[in-house]
Amino acid sequence: MIEPSPLPPLRLSAPAPPDNTTRVDAAVRWTLTLSALARLVASGEAVSKADLVAAAGLARTTVSTGVDELLAHGVLELDGLRPTAGRGRPAERLALCPRGGFVLVADLGAHGAHLAALDLSQRLHAHTHVDIDVADGPDAVLDAIESHLLTLRAGLPGGAPVRAAVIGVPGPVDGRRGVPVRPPIMPGWHGYPVTARLRRRLGCPVLLENDVNLRALGEARALPADQAPLLFVKVGTGIGGGLITQAGELHHGADGAAGDIGHIRVRGAPDIACVCGNVGCIEAVASAAAIAVRLGSLVPGGGIATINDVRAMVSRGDATAVGLVREAAALIGEVVATLVHFYNPARVTIGGSVAAASDELLAGIRAVVYQRALPLATRNLVLANSVLGEYAGVAGATVLGIEQVLSADGIGVLMGARRS
Ligand SMILES: [Zn+2]
Repeated sequence: MIEPSPLPPLRLSAPAPPDNTTRVDAAVRWTLTLSALARLVASGEAVSKADLVAAAGLARTTVSTGVDELLAHGVLELDGLRPTAGRGRPAERLALCPRGGFVLVADLGAHGAHLAALDLSQRLHAHTHVDIDVADGPDAVLDAIESHLLTLRAGLPGGAPVRAAVIGVPGPVDGRRGVPVRPPIMPGWHGYPVTARLRRRLGCPVLLENDVNLRALGEARALPADQAPLLFVKVGTGIGGGLITQAGELHHGADGAAGDIGHIRVRGAPDIACVCGNVGCIEAVASAAAIAVRLGSLVPGGGIATINDVRAMVSRGDATAVGLVREAAALIGEVVATLVHFYNPARVTIGGSVAAASDELLAGIRAVVYQRALPLATRNLVLANSVLGEYAGVAGATVLGIEQVLSADGIGVLMGARRS
């Protein structure tokens, strides 16, 4: 069954086909060519063979042979006719074949996970939200996630296999090795072979990514291309960032740590100890968890406030809670102003539970950024709340999953080709 999707159409990227400077053997070159053709169709840049000839810069016969092969293997399908200009015959319209396979995604936050199954044409077939606590450790959490994903998979239409899975976690990851790396709020997860374990259970390639990176990617691909470079700042239990390049791709940095902004120290911040071992990190003084601790100490009669208390009190305009959010916004604004100077993004997106509860956070960050950053960096800057909200991570995971299936490696598998 296809569910109404909370996601808008996501822009998929389409790398250029191999040219004369690409030094690979003929079989690999052909797989790269097929991948490029499929991704041009998936991205919407081409919907006919004639479009593909123009967009890929390949000979008509090469495109024709490639498209026929992709049709024969159920990667593409014919989707009616498209009228052509002038008196030419209508062109056959090409589309990704929904029966080509599925992508499973699991977007884990500190206390909950969004799980979904989509086909290669981005149609949502199943979606659920489950409560988890990443602090329970990888075995307990992944047992639960796997069992829910297998349930989703069992409900998919028969015959179409799961081609890839993407899992996001709220901590730094080494995507190449598929392991979390010293994640501060995920005890027991350091070095745990997340992708190897899921690959065994699900029987398909699995990608591991940081949750804020997924949100950044999802947000960027739901927006027009001119909204990149994009910086995503998540203010939730912790504070994290994700960077999208001008080309619309994730910027991981040399070791995958790019955008991990929660442990930047901010001038004038109180000397509060952070989970990372330093003091005065932006996450320790301005995250939802930090606001909850302050709130607990300020509420008459004492007591402990939770992140949900913060969210609820800010939503109804409680003066104490709103005041604390404004203080946090001023500190986060200092960090964002510095990042805006450094990276000159077209858009800064603010996401996470505090941003979702009220516009106070956005307004406070905006005020500081426009006051502190120089005009050249802010002249065309858009500073806005997330357009996808809690589904931004699912969107990013969907993009990564489908692009993996249509990559040269993924297409090689789909074609049943043996590649070394
Ligand atoms: Zn820290």
